[in-house]
Amino acid sequence: MNQHVPVSTDHGVLSDALAYAARYLDGLDSRPVAPPPEAIARLRGLGGALPDGPTDPREVLALLDGLGSPATVASAGPRYFGYVIGGALPATVGANWLATAWDQCGGLRAISPTVCAIEEIVVGWLSELLGLPSGCASAFVTGASMASFTALAAARHAVLARADWDVQSKGLYGAPPIRIVVGEEVHVTVLKALGLLGLGRDTAIRVPVDGQGRMRADALPPLDERTILCLQAGNVNTGAFDPAAEICAKAREAGAWTHVDGAFGLWAAAAPERKYLMAGFELADSWATDGHKQLNTPYDCGIALVRHPEALRDAMAATAAYLAAGEEREPTHYGPELSRRGRAVEVWAALRSLGRSGVAELVERCCRLAERFAEGLRAAGFEVLNEVVFNQVLVSFGAPERTQAVIAALQAEGTAWFGGSVWQGRTVMRISVSNWSTTERDVDLALDAIRRVAASV
Ligand SMILES: *Cc1c(COP(=O)(O)O)cnc(C)c1O
Repeated sequence: MNQHVPVSTDHGVLSDALAYAARYLDGLDSRPVAPPPEAIARLRGLGGALPDGPTDPREVLALLDGLGSPATVASAGPRYFGYVIGGALPATVGANWLATAWDQCGGLRAISPTVCAIEEIVVGWLSELLGLPSGCASAFVTGASMASFTALAAARHAVLARADWDVQSKGLYGAPPIRIVVGEEVHVTVLKALGLLGLGRDTAIRVPVDGQGRMRADALPPLDERTILCLQAGNVNTGAFDPAAEICAKAREAGAWTHVDGAFGLWAAAAPERKYLMAGFELADSWATDGHKQLNTPYDCGIALVRHPEALRDAMAATAAYLAAGEEREPTHYGPELSRRGRAVEVWAALRSLGRSGVAELVERCCRLAERFAEGLRAAGFEVLNEVVFNQVLVSFGAPERTQAVIAALQAEGTAWFGGSVWQGRTVMRISVSNWSTTERDVDLALDAIRRVAASV
C-alpha cells in the first residue's frame, strides 16, 4: 500500500511534533510552572522580518519548539492552580491531532458527517451525565463566554417572541423591555454576553448574595414571562452554587427564562457525592459549560445546551441557497459560526475514554484535593475563607499586601501557580483544582511551597 503514497508527502514534521510534544509533556512535572523571564524574552526570536521565501516545515517546528515551548505556562501540568484551568486528557490530545489532520469544517453536514454525528452523540451523553433534559439543542463554541452568549440569544428571542416581537428581523429598536435578573456575583462573561446582545451590561437587576456568593432566593425581584434570570452553578471564587431548587421552581411558575452559567460547576452533576449541589438546575431553560475546564479537553471548547431547540434555531439560523438545508440538524443553524473546527471530537474522546465512572472520579478527585488544600492551609494557621464545596479554595495570609506578596513570591518560586482575587472585600489567593493529572503528592508539594514561601515573606 505504502508505495502508492506520493513521495512528496513528508510526514517527518508530524513525527517531530510527536517527539516535541512527548518531551514537553514529560517535562511538565519537573519544570517551574511559570516560565522564566529569559524564556519569554527569547520569544522575539519567532519574529524578525517576514521570510522572503519558504522554510522547511521541520525547521519551522524546531524553531517553534525551541523558543515557544520554554515560554509556555505549565498549565497543562499537575501544579497549576490559577483561574479555573483544566489540562488535556491523553485521549483528547490524540483526538485533537487526528481531527486537525481531518481538517473538517464543523458547520455543515455535507462538509463533515463525522463531526455532525459526534456532536449528536456527545449531546446525548452530556445530557445524561449532567442530569439535563433529553432533546436539548446544542452549540459547540469556544468557551462558556460564547456558550452564554449563544444561549442568551435564544432567551432574548424567546421572551420577545412572547410579546409578538421578532428580534431577529427588527432588532431591539423599539422592542418591548426585557427584565434581566442576575446575582450580585454574576460572572463578568455573562454581563459581556448581555452587552453583546444589545441588552446592556449594566441593565440587570442584581440580586443580593450570601457570604458564599449564592443568590438569596428570598431577595428575588418579581419574575414574569419577559424575564431572563441568570443563575450560577459554581462561583468562580468560592465554587458555591445558587440555590436553584428554590429559585428555578419560582422562575418556572412565573414563565421566566432561566439560564445557568455552569462553566465548571455543571460537572458536579456527574459526581454522585457532589450531585446535591446541582439540585434544581435541571429545571432551567439553557445551560453554558466548558469542556476545557473540568472535563479536561484541550482549548478551546464550550457547550451551550438549550431546552427549546426552536428558540435556538430561530436565533441562529442562517439560510442561503448554497447552504441548502435538509431534514437533518445542521450545526451552523444552532450556533454563531458557519466555519469552525469540530471541537466536539475532543469531548467525545474524553467521555469515551473516561466513561461515567471516570468522569465522576475526575470531578470528585478535584474536589477532594481542594479539601486537602483547605485542611493543610488551616493546619498551617492560614485562614480559609470559603466553604469548600467544590474545587475552589480561598485563603488569606493576613493583610492585603502580605497576601499579594505571598502570591507573587509563590509564582516566582515555581513549584506551583496560584492567582489572586478580591472576595467580598478581602484580598485572597485563589486555588482551583481542575487538572486530571493532579495528585495528593502535587497538593502536598504545593502546600510545602506555600508554608515555606509564606514564612519567608
Ligand atoms: C471560566 C468561566 C466563564 C467563562 O468561560 P470561558 O471558557 O473562559 O469563556 C464563565 N463563568 C464561569 C463561572 C467561569 O468560571
